[in-house]
Amino acid sequence: MDDALHILKENKYKITKQRKSLLTYLSQYEESYVDVTVVDDYMRNQYPGMSHNTIYRNIKEFKEMGLVEQRMNGERACVKYQCDFSHKHHHHFICTSCSKVVELDSCPLGYFENQLPGYKIEEHKFELHGICDECQEKLVKN
Ligand SMILES: [Zn+2]
Ligand SMILES: [Zn+2]
Ligand SMILES: [Zn+2]
Repeated sequence: MDDALHILKENKYKITKQRKSLLTYLSQYEESYVDVTVVDDYMRNQYPGMSHNTIYRNIKEFKEMGLVEQRMNGERACVKYQCDFSHKHHHHFICTSCSKVVELDSCPLGYFENQLPGYKIEEHKFELHGICDECQEKLVKN
């Protein structure tokens, strides 16, 4: 939370009560993604006057400042709290059983760049899916 608030201040972003509680809510989701609609429901319960637009805009702004990470799960947008505030670019392993998200330090982009000499890669998405160690242990025990 302190890191996030610091970044908000650096961006001269006005920290309202609503924004702070949105951020606090999102900060629970550091190790797994939450559906954006769930966040929206929570916020509208807390602040009945708050519009969907405001909530989605705040999430987008948080994303642009690197406070949260977003991905698409099929058609649904999911969001999680940033796992690493210092070096922003990284990838994830996502457990298909418990939805735990693990941060990966390395990026495979260089490997592909070597195969495309002279090309400019503008965007890449890379995500690993599988069963985490804890879930594998549970599977063995059951
Ligand atoms: Zn991450
Ligand atoms: Zn798992
Ligand atoms: Zn990368």
